[in-house]
Amino acid sequence: MTSQDPAPPASGERLPQERRVVTEIPGPRSRELHERRTAAVPPGVGSVLPVYVTDADGGVVVDADGNSLIDFGSGIAVTNVGNANPRVAARVKAQAERFTHTCFMVAPYESYVAVCENLNRITPGDHEKRSFLVNSGAEAVENAVKIARYATGRDAVVVFDHGYHGRTLLTMTLTSKNMPYKQGFGPYAPEVYRAPLAYPFRWPTGPENCGPEAAAQVVDQIEKQIGASNVAAVVIEPIQGEGGFIVPAPGFLPALAEFCRANGILFVADEVQTGFARTGDMFACEHEGVVPDIVATAKGIAGGLPLAGVTGRADIMDKVHGGGLGGTYGGNPLACEAALAVLEEIEDGKLTERARRIGEVMLPRLRALAERVPAIGDVRGRGAMLAVELVRPGTKDPDPDLTARVARRCHERGLLVLTAGTYGNVLRFLPPLVISDGLLAEGLAVLDAAFTD
Ligand SMILES: *Cc1c(COP(=O)(O)O)cnc(C)c1O
Repeated sequence: MTSQDPAPPASGERLPQERRVVTEIPGPRSRELHERRTAAVPPGVGSVLPVYVTDADGGVVVDADGNSLIDFGSGIAVTNVGNANPRVAARVKAQAERFTHTCFMVAPYESYVAVCENLNRITPGDHEKRSFLVNSGAEAVENAVKIARYATGRDAVVVFDHGYHGRTLLTMTLTSKNMPYKQGFGPYAPEVYRAPLAYPFRWPTGPENCGPEAAAQVVDQIEKQIGASNVAAVVIEPIQGEGGFIVPAPGFLPALAEFCRANGILFVADEVQTGFARTGDMFACEHEGVVPDIVATAKGIAGGLPLAGVTGRADIMDKVHGGGLGGTYGGNPLACEAALAVLEEIEDGKLTERARRIGEVMLPRLRALAERVPAIGDVRGRGAMLAVELVRPGTKDPDPDLTARVARRCHERGLLVLTAGTYGNVLRFLPPLVISDGLLAEGLAVLDAAFTD
């Protein structure tokens, strides 16, 4: 921004930051729209909560019936800087009035380069890096695998139990969960191998042993079943998203990164859901000082405009021949302007600190709730990426029905929460990082009541 630009209003100043339930949810207008949708859109495309949105700002989403919901989802970790963030909106508008598309592969523009410079600067490690831009998280992960195979001359890719990497043919193959992501969509891409994840809550010998034991199992599996010299890349989410906000036990990620380095395997971090201040660090890998060879980013990168990035060591990224990478819309100028605004908001607004603070407010409340509710088997997460895992009391048997019921009750009372997990038994919380303390507390109270009423 130039110095003449007026200070933009803060996110959350346009709409009242309040929970307001004026109809049943979904209300009559949303139900009408849903009928139209059912006739026009196939059921394969689901919606967690079919209220039809007309407005959103800061920490609230307003629907067609005038209900104002507290947003604990951020459009799946996308609107980290708040919905319709004013700085994002202003830059996108100004860009839309200049030019909307040239295709970077036809005639380039500065904002794309600036986004890549930023990605090279803020991703873990101070080595020389290169970045390029695509449209979605899946496309970013898929390109990371293409580059890893090219650079190593190897085929095999190792992914993990409970992992989620997208819905394209390759990334669906990388994804662990069959329903709903894979069922009926095969055959899958070849040379993808799945290894155990250090899942502390469900590790047979207990959480203390989980990190080292899981890492040893992964190494053994790679060496015995694939052969380390055949592996191009290990692809992992530093905190799993759709798999249930599983924070790998301490030591697991560094041990994998070390094994990769020793064996010429590229360590690819899928930071699509964890990125951009969400976990209290700019990227979740930073928590244990892990420096990936390639990082895939998307979701939080551009406030909801479709954009994703692939960032990697310069010596790897520079190998691919000219024209080998790209796409018509990748790094669209509107999305690049949005990304530049998002980064300014994160850095000026100290949103990594804010994410940590959200964790400090929410974790004790969730732990207190778990004391009172025996169905809450585990409370976990980092920063503003938090979850509870629901089980049948006294066991570790997943309770997806209770999870769905609690989510529905939250929705009915004006709190937008999401579920996750291989067993569908995880409630996850991803508030926008700009959410007010008041709304955060109210959202927690609604959650509490949904469990205890
Ligand atoms: C959402 C997600 C993806 C896929 O991103 P899309 O933009 O939906 O293609 C990949 N990896 C992770 C970890 C994700 O959370």
